[in-house]
Amino acid sequence: MIDSRALPSFDWPKLEPGWVWLCGAGPGDPGLLTLHALNALKQADVVVYDALVAPQILDWAPQAIHEYAGKRGGKPSAKQQDISLRLVELAQQGKRVLRLKGGDPFVFGRGGEEAQTLVQHGIPIRIIPGISAGIGGLAYAGIPVTHRDVNQSVVFVTGHDQTGETPQAVNWRALAQGAQVLVIYMGMKHAGRIAAELLAGGRSPDEPCAVVCQATTPDQHVLETTLGALENDIEINGLKPPAILCVGRAVLLRQVLDWQSMMAGDAPRDLDPLGRGRPAEMP
Ligand code: SAH
Repeated sequence: MIDSRALPSFDWPKLEPGWVWLCGAGPGDPGLLTLHALNALKQADVVVYDALVAPQILDWAPQAIHEYAGKRGGKPSAKQQDISLRLVELAQQGKRVLRLKGGDPFVFGRGGEEAQTLVQHGIPIRIIPGISAGIGGLAYAGIPVTHRDVNQSVVFVTGHDQTGETPQAVNWRALAQGAQVLVIYMGMKHAGRIAAELLAGGRSPDEPCAVVCQATTPDQHVLETTLGALENDIEINGLKPPAILCVGRAVLLRQVLDWQSMMAGDAPRDLDPLGRGRPAEMP
């Protein structure tokens, strides 16, 4: 049994009173926390956490008050402002504050905004990155975000903007042309519109797609489909957020890299899903 209370010996930073550490908690599996996150959990007086943070992670800060900062209704901007100002307030009270966010705090998580508010109020901060769902979540589904035979680039994009609509600032048709693999956060609500835009931009209806729900948690569920069938398949399978959508040939690699199914005893479905006709190690 590994002693989870012990951190390896290292000059761990001290969370001082009046400071806020903005920290990523990873996509779900508590084992995907960083050691800096664990160090922070052990020192915090207050942990302000999001809906997407696994409850078990909070157990590692038994000495702290756990304050939920998830959806409380109201306008998104007002809510965000409330959270940021609450962090300022706690720091000004001299608390050691750990702001724990799902995935990476600076990836579609408004961590940048919170950090900015803190700095503007003169609160000292530290940023602790985390494993983002768009990378770690796909890895748990057996989908590598890059692979030399598939892509030299990857686009991380959100399917929502601040108003909850498909972001106007995103030129989906240009992405259809330029993005080899797309990793879409918050894409479930507008999956149909996003797929339609990508198709209008020239992507094939046969383009492989995956929907990875609750990635890295015990409830992880993965759907493999195509761009043409995406919206309908989400509907008939009753898939719900949180989910990452992945569009591109990287999804095919799941046929050989679905390691979770292999751990459960299944054989790989296809050892050469890209049809290279030679082993992966051969150029
Ligand atoms: N900062 C987070 C993203 C926050 S936005 C990160 O770096 O991962 C919230 C979106 O992230 C969700 O709507 C979903 O698209 C994605 N997401 C977060 N956790 C997820 C999980 N465990 N499984 C699937 N998608 C997840």
